[in-house]
Amino acid sequence: MKLINTMENAVAAQLLDIKSRFPGACFCEYCQQDIMALALNSLPPRYVVTEEGGVYARTAQLRQQYRTDITVALIRAIKKVQLHPRHNQDEQGT
Ligand SMILES: [Zn+2]
Repeated sequence: MKLINTMENAVAAQLLDIKSRFPGACFCEYCQQDIMALALNSLPPRYVVTEEGGVYARTAQLRQQYRTDITVALIRAIKKVQLHPRHNQDEQGT
């Protein structure tokens, strides 16, 4: 049994879909983590105790329920991160 925030899975799945809407945005590891963190902080966590198999169904259900909220949170987060991308702190340029 595992303790899982299914909102995290739902946001990650939604982020994959939404990426294509922002062709100019950076989705490197740093930016993606920042986007996830920002979006998740503005969404209610949904913790469940589950066995491995049950996670997908719950995530899909939650994603459907919160689809609009997740999209709004992600778009806001993407815009914010693109203004101040942290990947530049380690490497200069681009
Ligand atoms: Zn980046």
